[in-house]
Amino acid sequence: MTDRQAAHDGPAGPGTTAVRLVDVLVVGAGPAGLSAAARLAAAGAGRVEVLERERTAGGVPRHCAHGGFGTWRRPLTGPRYARDLAGTAVRAGAVVRTGVTALDWAGPLDLATVGPRGPETIRARAVVLATGARERPRAARLVPGTRPAGVYTTGELQQAVHLYRQPIGTRAVVVGAQDVSYAAADTVRRAGADVVALVTDLPGHRTAPARALDTRLRRGVPLLTGTTVTELLGHGRLSGVRVRHHDGRTAVLPCDTVVFTGDFTPEHELARHGGLTLDPRTRGPAVDGALRTSRPGVFAVGNVLHAVERAATAAREGVWVADAVRAWLVAASWPHGEAWPVGVPLTVDPPLRWITPNRVTPADALPYTLRTAARLGRPLLEVAQDGRVLHRERVRGAAPDRSLTLTARWAHAVDPKGGPVRVAVV
Ligand SMILES: Cc1cc2nc3c(=O)[nH]c(=O)nc-3n(C[C@H](O)[C@H](O)[C@H](O)COP(=O)(O)OP(=O)(O)OC[C@H]3O[C@@H](n4cnc5c(N)ncnc54)[C@H](O)[C@@H]3O)c2cc1C
Repeated sequence: MTDRQAAHDGPAGPGTTAVRLVDVLVVGAGPAGLSAAARLAAAGAGRVEVLERERTAGGVPRHCAHGGFGTWRRPLTGPRYARDLAGTAVRAGAVVRTGVTALDWAGPLDLATVGPRGPETIRARAVVLATGARERPRAARLVPGTRPAGVYTTGELQQAVHLYRQPIGTRAVVVGAQDVSYAAADTVRRAGADVVALVTDLPGHRTAPARALDTRLRRGVPLLTGTTVTELLGHGRLSGVRVRHHDGRTAVLPCDTVVFTGDFTPEHELARHGGLTLDPRTRGPAVDGALRTSRPGVFAVGNVLHAVERAATAAREGVWVADAVRAWLVAASWPHGEAWPVGVPLTVDPPLRWITPNRVTPADALPYTLRTAARLGRPLLEVAQDGRVLHRERVRGAAPDRSLTLTARWAHAVDPKGGPVRVAVV
């Protein structure tokens, strides 16, 4: 089949539901999935269908009412950015289906789904996983105490305020001091409530200094550093949180709302159920520079690979994957073959935390995204394989909540039969 041939619905076998065929099935209509779908549809990749479990396409930006999206030439609010991406995908010819959840695999490239039309199995010639990231709820953080109303993650808060216009309480404590924590504090204020404090167990904030200063001085919101939330108090409704400072002192902050922010993990359920190889550091699917996973015909893009990067990074990966998807549709060849992962693993040494893509083939060209556990001022990164230095590159300074970028100029020098490639700070 060429990549221009359309697919046709398959016959139902005895006792089975009909299997509908598409050329490319994209799971998730956030910036990554919509960008991939737009590019693929515009390039004539046949029937490109995007599934989105929410009622509206756009992913996380739908409920980020603040600016910070788009380009510096054309800055946009999150909802506007989401609408633009969805419009571009549809105009390019992609079919975006909302309210449809991909539940599980029903074959190597078949997905069992459920939506307004009921259950359905969709068979694709290529699948792009663009399921994003999710915030871990309070239970995952093991904060003891009662289970009162008024406990949110950032996403839950933003959806309640910006999408459903629900009241959230009057006095909120925000746990965290990263960009998303400050965005959550803005959302609390937009909802007409007061921010009692931002609380972090780190020694300082992890956002732009001007933003932190503005919040503290102009908004009068204190930042409690070296402080951990140890207990949630209240029955029915939250009445306060108990905090412990690093010197052992404890206190109760009276509040009726608490927002846990910034604890993201890739939404990797489908990848895990499908038995795709996951990277142990990112916890997302392991991919090479063409964003191919361990299963032939299955690709992954966006925050399912790295929780979480900026929307532009996710969208860029969506655009990038289109060429590899089209090449697969034409040739049906997967470089790793049966014994994947035979692509060389790519890993990092501390203080670097993770890198993605995390497999290398000599043809790779997509720049790598890395995170660090410690602040680094213009570090020199060294790439080595089996004691052989392949590349050295000085990159921009980075902090734990800001990513680093490393070019792929060295990938051609990798020995595909050699040991893992390591990236270290020299
Ligand atoms: C609070 C907050 C503020 C942010 N602010 C900014 C900012 O100012 N600027 C910026 O550039 N970035 C910002 N970001 C980051 C940005 O939102 C993400 O980088 C971007 O949304 C990632 O895109 P994505 O497509 O990978 O994932 P997502 O946007 O998460 O989209 C994934 C989509 O997949 C859907 N999905 C998941 N599983 C299934 C399934 N099984 N079936 C069907 N659908 C499924 C989800 O419903 C979701 O809509 C912010 C993030 C947060 C959380």
